[in-house]
Amino acid sequence: MRLGPGAFAASCVAIEVLGVAIFLRGFFPASVRSASPTGRLAEPAAPEPLAGASSNWTKLPLPLFSKTVIVLIDALRDDFVFGSKGARYMPFTTYLMGKGPSHSFVAEAKPPTVTMPRIKALMTGSLPGFVDIIRNLNSPALQEDNVIRQAKAAGKRMIFYGDETWVKLFPKHFVEYDGTTSFFVSDYTEVDSNVTRHLEKVLKRGDWDMLILHYLGLDHIGHISGPDSPLIGYKLREMDGILMKIYTALLTKERETLSPNLLVLCGDHGMSETGSHGAASAEEVRTPLVLVSSAFERKPGDIRHPTQVQQTDLAATLAIGLGLPIPKNSIGSLLFPVVERRPMREQLRFLHLNGVQLSRLLQENVPSYEKDPGFEQFVMAERLHGNWVKLHLEEDRSGALLNLGTKVARQYLGALKTLSLALSMHVAQYDIYSMAVGTIVVLEALTLLLLSTPQVLHRRAELEVPLSPPVFSLLFYLVFLVLSAIHVVVCTSAESSCYFCSLPWLAAGGVMVLVSALLCVIASALARMVMDSTLLWKSAAHPCSGWSEVGLLLLLGTVGHVLSLGASSFVEEEHQTWYFLVSTLCLALSQETCRSYFLGHNNELPHCFHTEPGTVGATSVHQDCFACEAPKAGQMDKAPCPSGTHRGHARWAVLAGPWLVLACCRLLRFLNHTGVQGAHRPDLGHWLTSTSHKMELSCLAALSLLVIFMLAQRGCSPVSKVALALGLVGVFCYRASIGNLLFPWQPANRGISKATPTTSPPLMSQQALWA
Ligand SMILES: [Zn+2]
Repeated sequence: MRLGPGAFAASCVAIEVLGVAIFLRGFFPASVRSASPTGRLAEPAAPEPLAGASSNWTKLPLPLFSKTVIVLIDALRDDFVFGSKGARYMPFTTYLMGKGPSHSFVAEAKPPTVTMPRIKALMTGSLPGFVDIIRNLNSPALQEDNVIRQAKAAGKRMIFYGDETWVKLFPKHFVEYDGTTSFFVSDYTEVDSNVTRHLEKVLKRGDWDMLILHYLGLDHIGHISGPDSPLIGYKLREMDGILMKIYTALLTKERETLSPNLLVLCGDHGMSETGSHGAASAEEVRTPLVLVSSAFERKPGDIRHPTQVQQTDLAATLAIGLGLPIPKNSIGSLLFPVVERRPMREQLRFLHLNGVQLSRLLQENVPSYEKDPGFEQFVMAERLHGNWVKLHLEEDRSGALLNLGTKVARQYLGALKTLSLALSMHVAQYDIYSMAVGTIVVLEALTLLLLSTPQVLHRRAELEVPLSPPVFSLLFYLVFLVLSAIHVVVCTSAESSCYFCSLPWLAAGGVMVLVSALLCVIASALARMVMDSTLLWKSAAHPCSGWSEVGLLLLLGTVGHVLSLGASSFVEEEHQTWYFLVSTLCLALSQETCRSYFLGHNNELPHCFHTEPGTVGATSVHQDCFACEAPKAGQMDKAPCPSGTHRGHARWAVLAGPWLVLACCRLLRFLNHTGVQGAHRPDLGHWLTSTSHKMELSCLAALSLLVIFMLAQRGCSPVSKVALALGLVGVFCYRASIGNLLFPWQPANRGISKATPTTSPPLMSQQALWA
């Protein structure tokens, strides 16, 4: 069977897409989701368990707090509050945590440590999966069950000030809001003043139940100058003052209403040592979570080592504190200290509600949920809880009852922890089997493409698909059988929950057929290649074969550079290997040219440059012969008269070439410092793109476009020349119209841009783009 080049390429691309899709499906496993539709809110709460009868406490318990204020400080790292910085710059918060009625925790955020996913995690208590990424592409509003939605359904009035992400995630949920944009990274003052300016008025009013403030300034400072900047101290002090203001106002309100309020201080993610965030380092993941309420016990204690909890635990805790149902997809467990001063019956009721929600989520997502230790523990605790309620209703007031209650609570807490761990493991689990299948498919298609490159270059781009020869058919059936056996073994093993196993057998079989067929095609192509090359070896000693030193260096360097891209610091400093490689290559080239010229191998020089290493297969070897023979022939015609100035010029040009390239590389490095370490250093790019050097940039751009035209127009028809010129003029006009460049007739307003504040927004937006 023969395939044309188009059909061959198209099928290769289709196979690649299939492989990548299977891989991604394994890499981003489905998140844990409740089966019940999110639209339905009024689901009856689980009744209190009662041994031998059904309890009449079926309603949700009443809210524990009347007003709640959530202060979210973007990029608040745990040591900004609990460390030496906190003691120095946040004296009031430190006092509250040490001696006030509060509970402090270190809440661990899951990567990606970026604001929007973290807000979602805080309010839904769930971790996003692959399906959500696809599902949320076109709708910014949060569709999932969350605390804000539940609070709105319960008729709570909520007010929001701060990062406008919240307004996009929860449209029409807030009775009053003012969103600030996080676009101007260089602004760390206005962005917070826009939040604080509402505070005074709102705190005086009583017509709200929940106030959410999201301060962005600290994050912006981190992005500008890192976590050790002196600006951090000022910002923390400002935040401390705000917390004091809110706490005092809440206390005043409490005296009027006589019911406790809740103040929550949290961060969405931390800040790395360079001031950025997004990854999974300890600095980026650990955030403080401080809950303050007069309902809590005042207990002097060590605040330097708070308990570590999960960020997702806040959703369940808030829901219980506000008397709301826990969000359906929440995998968090209740922060028990919040309820530990409530009567025992209420405590157990809260724990039971959380347990029911978690075990329901486990049942809907894990097939073998009954064997889960957390589930078993929960069932046992629920039975004990029933006994406890029975004794309690029988007015048993002995110490034994209290002991039993404590035991039940402890058992519930253990069960909650195990359940939420099992659920988060379920989310974080890579589906290795699907990933492996996807990788194999992709690699096979890639190998096939590589192997066919010589044929394509040879303009005989037809691929022989060798499914008919008996040897390959045998190989095909063998591989198919082995793969099917592996599939059966993997999918019938106890704890497999692979996506690939959940596919119908026919579809999985199709993929197996594809994998085996590709393997056979590759094997046959390789076999033919080996046969062809041995034939060639026998026929003649080939003049072009063998590796030159430069070729070897190029090949090894390329392989090394590709390998370095897989480093953990993905695309941070990898350009350094490229710089190193280019410099080394230039030096090697220079050495080779010198050797060729001064040691008297003049005629061989062009030959060196035309020797193509890495000839794959016989067909390309043939081609190479043309490639290296052609210049030789040309040299016979022109170069046999090498005496005189022409030859001298050429010689020096060739000798200077590598050094010229080296100089260009140096210029290139200076043009733009890429990477994380050097990003802040001033470079030519910054100089050119600053508003005061627009004229220079415009001249340079015009010159570069002219050079491009001069180089590209050779050998073009007049029509293409005009088209090329028009296109290049268009490039310049576009850049000028969006304000990057100046037209020749435009004045260079360098004085004005510095004097009037009206031109500062473009500058700021540029800085934001660089940041
Ligand atoms: Zn953030």
